[in-house]
Amino acid sequence: MVDPETHAIAVIGGATAGAEAARIFSEHGILTVVFEQNNRPYGKIEDGLPKWHVDLRKKEYRTIDQNLMGPHVHFVPGTKVGRDLELRELADKWGFHAVVLANGAWRDRPLPVEGADAYVGRGFVYQNPFIYWFNHYHEGTYTGPQFEVLDGTIVVGGGLASIDVVKVVQLELTLRALRERGIEQDMVELETKGIPKALASHRLTWEDLGLEGCTLFYRRRAEKMPLVSMPEGADEAQQAKVEKSRARILAKAVAKYLFNVKMLSAPVGLLVEEDRLVGLKFARTKLEGGRVHITDETVDVRAPMIISSIGSIPEPLPGIALRSELYDFQDWDLGRLADFPTLFSAGNVVTGKGNIVESRKHARHVAGYMTEHYLKLADAVQALKPLPPDVRNTLLARVRDHQQRAGYDGNYKAWIEAFTPS
Ligand SMILES: Cc1cc2nc3c(=O)[nH]c(=O)nc-3n(C[C@H](O)[C@H](O)[C@H](O)COP(=O)(O)OP(=O)(O)OC[C@H]3O[C@@H](n4cnc5c(N)ncnc54)[C@H](O)[C@@H]3O)c2cc1C
Repeated sequence: MVDPETHAIAVIGGATAGAEAARIFSEHGILTVVFEQNNRPYGKIEDGLPKWHVDLRKKEYRTIDQNLMGPHVHFVPGTKVGRDLELRELADKWGFHAVVLANGAWRDRPLPVEGADAYVGRGFVYQNPFIYWFNHYHEGTYTGPQFEVLDGTIVVGGGLASIDVVKVVQLELTLRALRERGIEQDMVELETKGIPKALASHRLTWEDLGLEGCTLFYRRRAEKMPLVSMPEGADEAQQAKVEKSRARILAKAVAKYLFNVKMLSAPVGLLVEEDRLVGLKFARTKLEGGRVHITDETVDVRAPMIISSIGSIPEPLPGIALRSELYDFQDWDLGRLADFPTLFSAGNVVTGKGNIVESRKHARHVAGYMTEHYLKLADAVQALKPLPPDVRNTLLARVRDHQQRAGYDGNYKAWIEAFTPS
């Protein structure tokens, strides 16, 4: 424990990981400033986790709210680091003893087929904007991207998020087909019951709807889908158990949401007509020693809409060196970068795991290290001495400037209420 507000830390991103780190710093009396690019701080809980997780979302919102309302925590909404202020400036000039990057993974991993990105919006869609649309389109104030879900859509993926994408397509198709028959079906109930049961309650079957449905393409087999994580050093029996539960999860999802699955298929080419993506060329793959090999056997698959859901990666931030698509961390445990000696990273941006519990656990680990080791060490380092009052006052004045620019008066509760969509 250090004396209250003798140390200051900036946190970039106010969602699960950022808010959890802020809670720990707050408990140690550290002046904590959380910069969040959006007006609301809920990150992937609001814009990723599909909206049918009603109770989970509410619970996670409450946790984030509590953490951001803690003592010594200053929330700065609507402020994007890299656009509204520079990371270098925050790290070196404001007087912060450390900066924590908790900015998640908001960029879709590009589909590895040359030229595909040219067709975004013309037959080709990435997962993140698609789920964002699904989670928000019902709101009166929604002005984001618009999508029309089409029968016969194909999804390239394999992870849990891609199953959610396929589910969104199937649920939307079913709801529309029911609406055309004059039946209003609740989406959350449809997701909970599953399509066959919900249709049966209207004396209908999937065949009655006359839909082809959505197809998920995956380059490996069901048991290799990362639907359950494989423990490190798992022996053969454990591996077999995990693989079995992966296959079971997929089979259950197929039975409940009636989508099609094509395994051992990797996209290798584009089918383009009149400047629009109308399908993909898939190659059959072979698995050899756990590796995927592309064979010469190909098939053209036409589709009215193609969604790529092959993972999310961090958005580039000016000043941060990249290694291939990821930040070039020197230390992957604490998310440290060679060019920023006072910087740490927490949550999805460094774990790469799209999982709430993992983000929170990792944030706890990083913030714990910082309070137990780094700040104590920092006391001994001349440049990181306790915050002098004049530096603290200037820092807080800068925080207030940014809050005012965003229109935020420091009342977190009132702010969240004002930005809660109807
Ligand atoms: C389709 C889908 C389904 C999912 N389903 C589940 C599930 O069932 N169970 C589960 O546990 N997890 C699920 N997840 C994953 C889970 O939601 C995330 O892994 C987790 O919420 C990530 O938390 P985080 O704090 O690390 O990152 P994020 O929630 O991404 O938070 C990052 C925050 O940083 C902000 N930010 C980004 N850049 C900047 C910047 N430059 N300046 C300021 N602020 C910035 C963002 O606005 C955001 O608020 C799902 C994700 C998706 C996409």
